[in-house]
Amino acid sequence: MKIFNKRQKTITGKIDDDAASTQWKNWKWQLKHSVKDIKTFEKLLDVALPEKEEKKLKDTITKFPMSVTPYYLSLIDRENYKEDPVYLQAVPSPSELVIGKYDMADPLAEDKDSPVPHLTHRYPDRVLFNISNTCSMYCRHCTRKRKVGDVESIPNKKEILKGVKYIKKHPEIRDVLLSGGDPLMLSNNYLDWVLSEVSAIPHVEMIRIGSRMPVVLPYRITEDLIELLKKYQPLYLNTHFNHPREITASSKKALKMLADAGIILGNQSVLLAGVNDCPRIIKSLSHKLLQNRVRPYYLYQCDLTEGLAHFRTPVSKGIEIIESMIGHTSGLAVPTYVIDAPGGGGKIPIMPNYIISWSTNKVILRNYEGIITSYKEPDSYEGFFCDRDCENCHLQLKLEGKEELSSVGIVKILESQDEGISLVPEDTERMTKRD
Ligand SMILES: *Cc1c(COP(=O)(O)O)cnc(C)c1O
Repeated sequence: MKIFNKRQKTITGKIDDDAASTQWKNWKWQLKHSVKDIKTFEKLLDVALPEKEEKKLKDTITKFPMSVTPYYLSLIDRENYKEDPVYLQAVPSPSELVIGKYDMADPLAEDKDSPVPHLTHRYPDRVLFNISNTCSMYCRHCTRKRKVGDVESIPNKKEILKGVKYIKKHPEIRDVLLSGGDPLMLSNNYLDWVLSEVSAIPHVEMIRIGSRMPVVLPYRITEDLIELLKKYQPLYLNTHFNHPREITASSKKALKMLADAGIILGNQSVLLAGVNDCPRIIKSLSHKLLQNRVRPYYLYQCDLTEGLAHFRTPVSKGIEIIESMIGHTSGLAVPTYVIDAPGGGGKIPIMPNYIISWSTNKVILRNYEGIITSYKEPDSYEGFFCDRDCENCHLQLKLEGKEELSSVGIVKILESQDEGISLVPEDTERMTKRD
């Protein structure tokens, strides 16, 4: 398949005649020529916006900057750009300046749950480590919109080492998720250094990278990068395709290089009004991803970040999409639909309801076709109480000391008999009356 097409050639010519076809696949050239203003956008795509609209977009850019790689720009269908899914994700909309009553700058409270700069420790056994403050393409729907274009910087070694030190001091952390910004904005040398520091921590069992490069700048996936990444198995990379149109010959090649190197690929999509809020689009995207060895991982409900109101769908749309997939297509194709809880509660999975009713030892279920069925539970199951004493349990789990964690949340009240019987918020009126 041809990777350098006519439209790409036209765009290259307008940026730099001499570069012609030789530079298109050079990721540094792409970065250097990222489109950051409306005039250049119009010139490269050969479209003319009405003057009033141009002005509105310029105003939007002063609050939320723009940056689009020539590659990603070349995917826009210029005949119908206004409704184009790539255009909508890459080019500002004046709607971004509309701040709703429930919108927040940092809805996931990532800054509050940050014990050291650049690191969020929310879940018991894993951390989010933002090792880059920059991206090759500024997604209009970015959940960290408050930071976009803020400081175009990569944290220095001293700052990174603070995060590394924190992870070292917390033996419960077994999974480190490198994100940003985009970690693949780092130079190979720097990335190699970060990976070597993190992977050298004895209790870190796996590293994950979150990167949109395979979508917006697939030429970043070079042989050199692959050689470097290969050294840090098990390595997982989650990327961010939102629409089947983003899966091109170039992105397929990047995914193939990563998969061939044994890097395990996943995809996180965001449900976006006007872009992919359609069961058939998400299903088609999932099928294309699986063909390219990428497992759909999460489908996110759009966060309550300021400036994203026009992208949000009702939750029912997400449930409808999942309903249209479970049973109808491969289980592997179905992402987990999640709402990242405002206030920092973490990701909450949302599913259509399959349990219709329940009686003693009998569950009534419905399937994807609407068939109602029943499942008889065993009469003879000998329930036993877990007191977390694995040494003396007939189930042969041989834990090595440190793995023994105390239970939290719902699991805690499911398990314990003698201690808590309920989870009660501390500040209810009823509780304050008690003391
Ligand atoms: C999403 C996220 C993770 C990883 O969550 P998984 O469900 O394990 O993929 C970890 N930390 C933070 C702060 C996150 O937002």
